Amino acid sequence: MRIAVDLDGVLAESMIVWCEKVNREFGTTLKMADLDGWSSWTKFGIPKDDFYRILDESWEDWKQIPPTESRIGSKVARIEGFGEVDIVTGRSKRTEGSAISWVEHQKIRYRHFVRVAGWRDKIVLDYDVYVDDAPDLMPLVSRSPLSWGILYDRPWNRSVPVMPKILRAESWKQIPGLLRQIQKAKN
Ligand SMILES: [Mg+2]
Repeated sequence: MRIAVDLDGVLAESMIVWCEKVNREFGTTLKMADLDGWSSWTKFGIPKDDFYRILDESWEDWKQIPPTESRIGSKVARIEGFGEVDIVTGRSKRTEGSAISWVEHQKIRYRHFVRVAGWRDKIVLDYDVYVDDAPDLMPLVSRSPLSWGILYDRPWNRSVPVMPKILRAESWKQIPGLLRQIQKAKN
């Protein structure tokens, strides 16, 4: 199977650094848990352009970004037996170098680092499985005839409804088992 693993929110806890930077700039007291919807920053009066600018600035400080889970490199290594693992991300061109440095620093092994313009562009790459935290990507994956989704549980995707071919993972530990399930269903 060809497996697309997302970077922000699935491997990298970039929103922690993002919250710190937003709080410094906007005088807010945002925490990750407050981000309970995909565009929830709008509720706190943060314009979209600032959202992405601050996310880029967070990546420029890539050494400050923790992984979503400890020993993330060895957890990702456990899915290598299921096929080809690519990192597929909407990271900006400007932060690509930082993102690759971060991935290498975390000792995450992968085949290709694939940058797309936006999350919508992921679906046309026709991966067998998308491991992602983006709520809006999941309906596209569900409708795509051969693709499956593993939605990595985050505060901002808890309201995603149950959909065909979309499985939910509370942690990386569950992902090998879910891939096994998908592999069986595809054969
Ligand atoms: Mg993401």
